[in-house]
Amino acid sequence: MNMLTFPDTYVEILPEVRDFLAGKHQLYIGGRWQSALSGATFETIDPSTGRLLAHIASAQAEDVDVAVRAARATFDSGAWHLKLTPSERGKLIWKLADLIEEHAPILAQLDALDNGKPVTKARNVDVPLSAEHFRYYAGWTTKIEGATIPVNTQGMFNYTLREPVGVCGLIVPWNYPLLMAAWKIAPALAAGNCIILKPAEQTPLSALYLARLFEEAGFPPGVFNVLTGFGETAGAALVAHPGINKVGFTGSVGVAKTILRNSADTLKRVSLELGGKSPNIIFADADLEQAVVGATWAIFGNNGQSCTAGSRLYIQRNIYDRVLTGMSDQAAKIRVGMGMQIDQPDLGPVVSQEQLETVMGFIEAGYNHGGKSVIGGKRVGGALAQGYFIEPTIFVDVQDHMKIAREEIFGPVVCAMPFDDADEVLRRANETPYGLAAGLWTRDLQTAHRFAAQMQAGTIWVNTWGDTDAASPFGGYKQSGHGREMGKEAIDLYTEVKSVWIKTG
Ligand code: NAP
Ligand code: MG
Repeated sequence: MNMLTFPDTYVEILPEVRDFLAGKHQLYIGGRWQSALSGATFETIDPSTGRLLAHIASAQAEDVDVAVRAARATFDSGAWHLKLTPSERGKLIWKLADLIEEHAPILAQLDALDNGKPVTKARNVDVPLSAEHFRYYAGWTTKIEGATIPVNTQGMFNYTLREPVGVCGLIVPWNYPLLMAAWKIAPALAAGNCIILKPAEQTPLSALYLARLFEEAGFPPGVFNVLTGFGETAGAALVAHPGINKVGFTGSVGVAKTILRNSADTLKRVSLELGGKSPNIIFADADLEQAVVGATWAIFGNNGQSCTAGSRLYIQRNIYDRVLTGMSDQAAKIRVGMGMQIDQPDLGPVVSQEQLETVMGFIEAGYNHGGKSVIGGKRVGGALAQGYFIEPTIFVDVQDHMKIAREEIFGPVVCAMPFDDADEVLRRANETPYGLAAGLWTRDLQTAHRFAAQMQAGTIWVNTWGDTDAASPFGGYKQSGHGREMGKEAIDLYTEVKSVWIKTG
């Protein structure tokens, strides 16, 4: 029986979600549910209330080994990439997308409970985009081709084969739990790989539910495996395991560097989608009404817990006060509340006590170094004191060299800084070790194209912010990562190319 209680301000928890939470949360390996061999578990909590949601199996190195063997056995048997036709694989992936849609209300509640985000956002953004991602890559299974190459040797036929890399260890963060997993799983599957997913310790629930949908769709056992657990144990063991051919990682720059070091011994393929400190530039000629709303949500969307958060805001000096006033008015209207409350808020809590402390530490550093907040700057108390809520915060009097202007905060905090001319702001925007996204607001076509070409980032947004699409490549310059996910670029990440020479003459 489910002993969990929820605040009475919550929307009704679906019976399927109650049952799921009350069930046993095991590892999903080779098509079977099993506890960690050590019996270890950890807790996942609701960051809106700080209350326990479920005990989750904590995979250790020995469990990783079992999972890698299972995934390898499936891969080596060819059950997925050889015995099914590309079209059959595509149909299964499409079916998974249908099941995600069918179970969308459940998945949305699981992500909202685990991560704290408003359930309407999970329902309208995270879950449909995840389903869409699987649909897009379902179409790719029949389109992964090699080439015939006109080599300079008489009597020789040369062609390429594009093959799956093998067993992929996919390690994802907590900010969009289902969606970040989908970004990696879908192309890896389409390319014919077997997968071991390691969700973030803060948000394991939707990954486990997804495993049920894989079962229901009828994937061969061992194609998709889930290892819940900690980065330092389960994640590190996956990265080091010689049976893993490729690691796909989304997370922080610090962990990415550890992963690169730990993957060196086996020289496995690694792709990295990392953080950012994305510059968002508002020129005086912009549609200011649009720019003010756009810049507000560029930072506060998902509570700033987006790798592409527009966290360095450069405003041309003659409109600086006007834009700041507009953004403060917007921010003042943002309703912060529990992700599952009936009266849906715009923003939930940050994901954990640890994240709360990190973000509040940045805010403190901002004040200590001479910054001022024009709005926000505090933890939210009152009825929300048990959760990890932070006011949307706008800092001014910030210098480029200050910690809050340089380092990724991953919380609802933006630094607003004035600039005078285009050359100056271009230089300042690019002066960062990151390069995930950058944006500008202008009506001038020349400026738009010049900045699109000269800003050092994997994604440029002009008069918009935050758009992504399964078909459009996404990833980072500089320390924001290696490789591109989405689009046809992700197929390259999850395939090897083989060159075949046949003597014909
Ligand atoms: P994180 O600490 O780097 O963790 C990400 C994942 O890596 C988690 O599953 C984590 O496990 C695991 N991990 C930790 N240490 C590991 C190790 N030594 N070996 C292998 N795996 C390990 O990042 P986070 O705090 O969860 O997420 C926030 C970061 O992700 C931000 O920097 C953000 O910018 C970035 N992000 C980037 C993108 C993108 O597409 N570029 C998208 C979303 C987020 P645990 O859960 O146990 O720590
Ligand atoms: Mg949680």
